[in-house]
Amino acid sequence: MPGSLRVGRIAGIAIEVHFSWLIILVFLTWSLAVGWFPTYYPGWPTNTYWIISVIASLLLFASVLAHELAHSLVARARGLPVRSITLFVFGGVSNLEREPTSAGVEFIMAFVGPLTSLIIGGVCWWIGLRLPISPTQAVLMYLGITNLLLGVFNLIPGFPLDGGRVLRSIIWGITHNMRLATRIAARVGVAIALLFILAGIWFFFTGNVFNGIWIGFIGWFLLQASQAADAQSRMETLLSGATVAQVMNPNPVVVPPYISVRALVEEQILSQGQRAVAVVEGDRFVGLVTLAEVRRVPRDAWDRATVRDIMVPRERTVTARPDQDLTEILPLMASRDINQVPVVSGDQLVGMLSRDRIVQYMEIRRGLGGARTADTRQPWPPHDLPGQTEDRDRLPHAS
Ligand SMILES: [Zn+2]
Repeated sequence: MPGSLRVGRIAGIAIEVHFSWLIILVFLTWSLAVGWFPTYYPGWPTNTYWIISVIASLLLFASVLAHELAHSLVARARGLPVRSITLFVFGGVSNLEREPTSAGVEFIMAFVGPLTSLIIGGVCWWIGLRLPISPTQAVLMYLGITNLLLGVFNLIPGFPLDGGRVLRSIIWGITHNMRLATRIAARVGVAIALLFILAGIWFFFTGNVFNGIWIGFIGWFLLQASQAADAQSRMETLLSGATVAQVMNPNPVVVPPYISVRALVEEQILSQGQRAVAVVEGDRFVGLVTLAEVRRVPRDAWDRATVRDIMVPRERTVTARPDQDLTEILPLMASRDINQVPVVSGDQLVGMLSRDRIVQYMEIRRGLGGARTADTRQPWPPHDLPGQTEDRDRLPHAS
């Protein structure tokens, strides 16, 4: 997520903090120190309120992290690589490279997060109830209540909340149709998000301004995420059954590896508007060169450097086979933010798959009535086309 700071690594998973979380940390500490603790535990010195507020905020941060780690560790144990965990204003997200491949895996992965929150909350609450009133007891009670709320909130059955994923996995398990399950869970998510927004407006106009804004914001965030999930599932429906060969450009622009970077820029990139060019030696595909590689070469070196010097060699290029399913290659393009995928048969380059071609193909298929469920109220193209946004492959949920 842009605007995130890497703060460390736990079990090999990068932990990042988004700047919005730091704002919330300050705000939370302040509201605990002047609101919550003095209200429920009156008569303590001001310093005590501030110290326990800082501790309680940081421990809440640790609880949200534990919730995310539970998702991520289960995902990894089930063979789904996890890149990082980002903590932001509404909680946390685990950034997965792929979506779960079976209903059972999705169920466990989604459920273990709220379960962790409920266990932390239950234990803190149970201990807190048995201790005499003290600063430690106050912090434990606060953590107990917030974690229990966190667990319950995340079990609300609307996508993208954990509960929505649980719902999706159950429908998926019963119907064996993941897209249908996603569609239903996303629609429930939209409905719940709208309820949140309405509740926010109601609170706002009945004098509870702060809670109104906060609930409204959560609703807005949920609405964005559930609509994106819905759009993605619709896109997958449009592309289902299509192979790479049907969508690729069968006559891509190619260059030999020995030409200079200047020749590449002037003859291909500038005059033909190519953003990525396949490098072919004889008949063999040897690499890919894109604007990103050209940008790294200083202008005065353009005559000396050759395409071979700067290209991404074949071993490090994501390629597709012509007979591959398009829906198989799309998540890969999305998670690595790739716009072009060379299509290779054996050693030979047979085409180029690009984001533009995919969008074009979808539009044609839609025009032919390929999508009975196409909904014109939704933004088009969907926001989760590869390369358009950075967060389409996440496992988002507000915590
Ligand atoms: Zn979660």
